[in-house]
Amino acid sequence: PPHLEATSASHPRGLYLLFATEMWERFSYYGMRAVLVLFLIDAMRMDKAFASKFYGGYTSLIYLTPLIGAYISDRYWGNRRSILTGGLLMALGQFTLFFSASNYGSIQDHPLSHWLLYLGLGAMIVGNGFFKPNISSMVGTLYRPDDKRKDAAYTIFYLGINLGSLIGNTITSTVGDTGRPNDFRWAFLACGLAMTLGTVIFNWGKGRYLHTPDGRPVGETPAGSTLVNGLFALLPVLLVLVLGILYLDSAKLPVIAPLLGLAVVGIALLIFTDKSLTASDLQGVLVIFVVSFFVVFFWAAFEQAPASLTFFAKDSMDRTIFGHELPPSLFQNLNAFFVVTGAPIMALVWTALGKRGLEPPSPVKMALGLALLAVGYLVMCFGVNNLQPGVKVSMFFLVAMYFFHSYGELFLSPIGLSLVNKLAPAKFASLLMGVWFLANAGANYLAGYMSSLYPDPTSTAPKPVLLGFHIDNLYDFFLIFVVSAAVAAAILLVISPKL
Ligand code: GLN
Repeated sequence: PPHLEATSASHPRGLYLLFATEMWERFSYYGMRAVLVLFLIDAMRMDKAFASKFYGGYTSLIYLTPLIGAYISDRYWGNRRSILTGGLLMALGQFTLFFSASNYGSIQDHPLSHWLLYLGLGAMIVGNGFFKPNISSMVGTLYRPDDKRKDAAYTIFYLGINLGSLIGNTITSTVGDTGRPNDFRWAFLACGLAMTLGTVIFNWGKGRYLHTPDGRPVGETPAGSTLVNGLFALLPVLLVLVLGILYLDSAKLPVIAPLLGLAVVGIALLIFTDKSLTASDLQGVLVIFVVSFFVVFFWAAFEQAPASLTFFAKDSMDRTIFGHELPPSLFQNLNAFFVVTGAPIMALVWTALGKRGLEPPSPVKMALGLALLAVGYLVMCFGVNNLQPGVKVSMFFLVAMYFFHSYGELFLSPIGLSLVNKLAPAKFASLLMGVWFLANAGANYLAGYMSSLYPDPTSTAPKPVLLGFHIDNLYDFFLIFVVSAAVAAAILLVISPKL
C-alpha cells in the first residue's frame, strides 16, 4: 500500500524501472563511446587529433542538449514522453551508425557513410537531451520531498549507470574493437538493440510503476499541451541537430565555446535578476556556479579515457594477459568496475564518518576527488618516465590510474549532483541541473581538445605545444593533468570554508 511504501526501508518499484531503463541507455552511450574514436581513426580514416576534437565536440553537445530537453519536458511533454522520444531517437541513431559502419571498405568514395555518421550522432545528441535530464529528475519524484531514502535512491541509480556501462563496454570492445575495421558495426548494432530494449521496458512499466507515494502518476504530459506546441518545441531541437552536424563536420571551429559561455551568462542573468529569490537562495546558486567551474578541471582530464588514454593503451602499453591480447578499448571498463565495487564501500565510509561527526563537507569531498584524479595521472607519469622508443609500458599503471580516477569520481560526481539538488531553489531546479551538465559540456569539449595534443610516439609530426609548454612525450602530456587537477583541488580546498 502506498502509505506504507513511504516509510518502509525498501524502495518503490518505480526506482527499479528507472534503474533498468537507464542501465540499457548507458550501455548504449558508453558502449558506443568506448569504440567511437578508434572507429573514426581506423574505419573513417581521420587522424588522431581530428578524431579527438570530433569526440570532444560530440560529447560536449551531448551535455548541452539536456538544457533544451528539460525545458521542453517541463513546458510541453512531461518526463514520460520525453524519455520515450529520446530513447527512440538514440536507438535510431545507433542503427544509423550501424549502417554507416557497414559501408566500410568504400568509405573514401562513399559520402553516404560519412553523412550517416553525422546523422546518427546528431540523433543521439538530440535524443540524449530529452532522455538524460528527465530520467535523472524522475528518480526524486517517486519519493516525498523530505524522504530520507532519496540519497540512497540516487546511489542505486548511479550503480545502474555503471552496470550498464560495464556490460556495454565489455560487449562493444569484444565484438567491435577486433582490429578489423569492418567489425565496428557490431558494436553499434549491440548498442541499438540495448537502447531499444531500455525503451521497451520503460514503455511497458511507466503506467504501472511511476507514481508518487500516494499513488498519483508522475511524469505525464501536462494538460493543455497540444501536438502543435509539442512540434513547435521541436524547432530548437532541429536547430541543434543542424548546428551539431555542421559543427562536427568542421571540428576545428571552436563555435561551441562561445555558445556555452553565452548559455552560462544567460542563465546567471535570469536567476540573479529574479526578484522572488532571497539572499540565501542566491548564495546557494552562487555555490553551484563556483563548484560547477571546478568540476570542469575534473571531467576534462577524466574524459581522456575513450581518446588519448585509449591511444596510449593501443600504442604504448603491453595488453597481453595469459597469452591473450586484450582490445585497447576494453580498459575503459575499469572505471565502471571500480565504481560499481567502490560505491557501496564509499557509502559505508561516509555513513561511518557521519556517525562520528567526521564526514567532510561536500566541497572538501570534491577537492579530494580532484586530488585523487591528480594522483592517478601521477602514477601514469611514473609509468612513462624515460620511456625508450619501442618499449611497452606495463598495464599496472593504467589499472592503478583508473582505480584513483574512479574513487575520485565517487568523491565528486554523486556528491555534486546531490549538492545541486539541495542548493537549487525549486523554481530553478532543472535549470541549475542544466548548469551542472553545462560544466560537463565545457569539460568534454576541452577533453577533446587536450586529447588532440597527444604526443603520438608513433608519429614523426612536430610535437604539440600548449600555452608555450612543449609536449615532447607522454610524461609531459600526463603531467599537464597532474598539475591542473592538483591546482584546482588546492584552490577548492582553500575556499571550501567560504562555500
Ligand atoms: N557517469 C555518470 C553518468 O553517466 C556521470 C557522468 C558525468 O556527469 N560526466 O551519468
